[in-house]
Amino acid sequence: MKRVVVKVGTHVLSAQNRLSKERILNLVEFLVALMEKYEVILVSSGAVAAGYSILKLDKKLLHNRQAIAAVGQPQLMSTYNKKLERFGKSGAQLLLTADDFDSRKRCYHAKCTIDTLLENGILPIINENDATATEELVFGDNDQLSSRVAYYFGADLLILLSDIDGYYDKDPHKYEDAKMRKIVHEIEPSELEMEKSANFAFATGGIVTKLKAAQFLLEHQKSMFIASGFDLSDVKSYMLEGVHKGGTLFT
Ligand code: ADP
Repeated sequence: MKRVVVKVGTHVLSAQNRLSKERILNLVEFLVALMEKYEVILVSSGAVAAGYSILKLDKKLLHNRQAIAAVGQPQLMSTYNKKLERFGKSGAQLLLTADDFDSRKRCYHAKCTIDTLLENGILPIINENDATATEELVFGDNDQLSSRVAYYFGADLLILLSDIDGYYDKDPHKYEDAKMRKIVHEIEPSELEMEKSANFAFATGGIVTKLKAAQFLLEHQKSMFIASGFDLSDVKSYMLEGVHKGGTLFT
């Protein structure tokens, strides 16, 4: 069975400074359908958004964000597991850092854990270990982490579910005539230097971190698909029906 990684950003998981239970339910419903056809690993942000309703500290300070994430991570997992239960499924939590992928031994053990979870029909849910690692908390919102997860844990495809429905020739929030690129084979160095566009109180990503993730995967003969996490119809068509209606495929 083919293995895929789905990464979902903070934007998609939260609304009005808190987790959006409705969007998480839609996501889980999609993941459960995907699990019929593929081995699925989820990389989920959202710990800070989940923790903020309990611990309202100033998010500008890194240590505060780390503390909020520590409060929010179990909330996030509990929300996922409540929704998964409705479909007779369970999720497992893995907190990783980029350094884990530098160590062959740690990477091997993490992969064995993932393999065992997948063999047993459990959904592995990965997030950055925010208390010790801060790269993704500072910048990246798990885009980089998910590309490493996809490559090192043997997936063929990374699906990024974003607030944007694909990769455009220019920022669609700034230019009305921006056109979506459906298939991208190569990323130019100039595209990787575009201005960082994280514009949301919780999110720390932007299109550049997504392009870097895509670049890493292209270099390793893997693919990446960006589609909307608000409206899952494009990703459903592509993954469940094999029809590429919308969304961008890097391959
Ligand atoms: P997420 O929170 O889903 O990870 P981000 O908000 O961090 O996503 O990044 C996506 C944003 O990047 C889009 O909403 C868009 O405003 C911006 N962006 C800038 N340039 C582009 C582009 N060429 N194509 C698509 N989005 C772009």
